[in-house]
Amino acid sequence: MSATIPHWRGGERWSGAAERTGEVFDPATGRVSGQVAFASGPEVDAVVSDAVEAGRAWAAESLSRRTAVMFGFREALSRRRKDIAAAITAEHGKVLDDALGEVQRGLEVAEFACGAPHLLKGSFSDGVSGGVDVYSIRQPLGVVAVISPFNFPAMVPLWFVPIAIAAGNAVVLKPSEKDPSASLLIAECWAEAGLPAGVFNVVHGDKVAVDALLEHPDVASVSFVGSTPIARYVYETGTAHGKRVQALGGAKNHMVVLPDADLDTAADAAVSAGFGSAGERCMAISVVVAVDPVGDDLVEAIGSRMGSLTTGDGRKGCDMGPLVTGAHRDKVTGYLDAGVADGARLVVDGREIVPQGDEGGFWLGPTLFDQVRPGMSIYDDEIFGPVLSVVRAASYDEALELVNASPYGNGTAIFTADGGAARRFQRDVQVGMIGINVPIPVPMAYYSFGGWKSSLFGDTHAHGMEGIHFFTRGKVVTSRWPDPAQRTGVDLGFPRHD
Ligand code: NAD
Repeated sequence: MSATIPHWRGGERWSGAAERTGEVFDPATGRVSGQVAFASGPEVDAVVSDAVEAGRAWAAESLSRRTAVMFGFREALSRRRKDIAAAITAEHGKVLDDALGEVQRGLEVAEFACGAPHLLKGSFSDGVSGGVDVYSIRQPLGVVAVISPFNFPAMVPLWFVPIAIAAGNAVVLKPSEKDPSASLLIAECWAEAGLPAGVFNVVHGDKVAVDALLEHPDVASVSFVGSTPIARYVYETGTAHGKRVQALGGAKNHMVVLPDADLDTAADAAVSAGFGSAGERCMAISVVVAVDPVGDDLVEAIGSRMGSLTTGDGRKGCDMGPLVTGAHRDKVTGYLDAGVADGARLVVDGREIVPQGDEGGFWLGPTLFDQVRPGMSIYDDEIFGPVLSVVRAASYDEALELVNASPYGNGTAIFTADGGAARRFQRDVQVGMIGINVPIPVPMAYYSFGGWKSSLFGDTHAHGMEGIHFFTRGKVVTSRWPDPAQRTGVDLGFPRHD
C-alpha cells in the first residue's frame, strides 16, 4: 500500500505526526487505495503560524510580482490538468472527462484572478472639499481558511484560493478527507509558479482540523462548501469567533418544464443534469417539475434516454462512475426503498446495474421516480446520488410555489419557449442561480456563485467581484496636504464639505 497522503507545509509535502489517519478508496473497485493523515489541533496551529509570517511578506509584495505568480500558476495548472483529473477520478470516481471539466472550471477562476491589478483598483475623488481628496483602497485579510467538500476536489478549492492569494492573503486549505490528492497537485502548481513557501498550505483531516481553524485567532476568514448542517455549524462557530464566513450548503435543484417546452431538449437536459457525476453535484437537477399535460411524455422521454447510459469505472470511457464511498451508496439506495414505501412510482431502478469485472465498486445506476410529492423523503432530502424525481404540477403557479417552498435555493432551471414566462420565473423564484433552457447554470468565474436560503450562510457568494470583496477589507482615506493659502483655523464643528 502507498505511503500516507501528507499535508503541504513550508512549500513541500509534510507528513506531520499522522497520529490519526483516514482511509481513501478507489470507488470503482471498492478497495482502499491509501491512507490520509489527519491533522491534530497543534499541527493546524503550526501551519497557521507559518502562514501568518509568509502572508505578511506576501501582502507586501508588489502587485506586479503577485500577478506574475498568478500567471505562472495558471500555466502550471493547465500543464498538470490531466494529472489532477486522473487523481480526482481515482479517489472520487467521476469519469475522466468530467474530472477534466472540473479542472477547467477551476482554471477559469485562476484566469480571472490574473486580472488582480485591475480588480483590486480603488477609487479616487479629487477635491471633495477645499484641498481635500478622498480615495479607497482594499487590503488583504491575512490568513484565510478554505474547507471543501468531496464532490469537486479541485474546482471548489479553486473557487477561492487563486483570488485569496492574488489579493495578498495566505491560505490554509482543508480538503475533503475522501479525495485528498488533488489538493497536493494544486500545491505543486503553486510551488512551480514561484509562490513563496507558507502562502499556500494544505492540512488534511476531519472535524478536529476544521474546529482548530474555526477557533484560531489568526484565521481571519472561512470559506466553506459542504452539506447544510455542517455549513450552518461552520457559519455559527466561525462568526462567533469573530471571523468573516461564507458557508455554502446543500441543494435540491428543481427543473420546471412548461407545456410549450421542446420535450426532446428538456429530456436531454434532465438526463445530463440529473446523472452527470452520478448526481454528486450541488447543481445537479434532482427534481423535474412537469407542468400539465407534459408529465407522461416527459417521463417516457427521460426513461428511454436512461437506457443508453453506461455506468462503470471512470477510467474506462463510460457515462457515469460509482458513488464516492460504500457508506454513501448505501445511504442513497436506502432512499430508493423509502421512495417505493412512500408510494412513488419507480420507473427505472439503478440497483440492477453492476459493471462486470468491477463488482466491488460503489455502484448505483441512474434511477427515476415518477409521481413524487412533497412529504416523501426522496423529495424533501438532498440525496446526492443518481436519483431523479418527477413531480407533477397543474400550472406554472403551482410549479413556482413548489420551488419557492423548498428550504434550499441553490440552482433551478425553467424549460419553455415563452420568453415572458421565463422572465417571470427569473424574477419570482427564490433561488440564487437560474437557468433558462440551461439545466446547470453554473456562473462563469467573473460572475459569483452562490445560492439562497439553506444553500448559503453569510452574504457573500464565491468568485467574481464578490470573491474579491470577501478576501479584502476596504479603507477610505481622506487627505489634505498643508496649503498655507487654505488655512481654516480651529473649528470645533462636525466636518462639512461645502
Ligand atoms: P460535508 O459537509 O460532509 O463535508 C464538507 C467538509 O466539512 C469536509 O472538508 C469535511 O471534512 C468537513 N466536515 C464534515 N463533517 C464535519 C463536522 N462534523 N465538523 C466539521 N467539519 C466537518 O460535505 P460533503 O459530503 O463532502 O459534500 C457534499 C455536500 O456539499 C452536499 O451537500 C453538496 O450539496 C454540498 N456542496 C455544495 C456546494 C455549493 O456550492 N452550495 C458545492 C459543492 C458541494
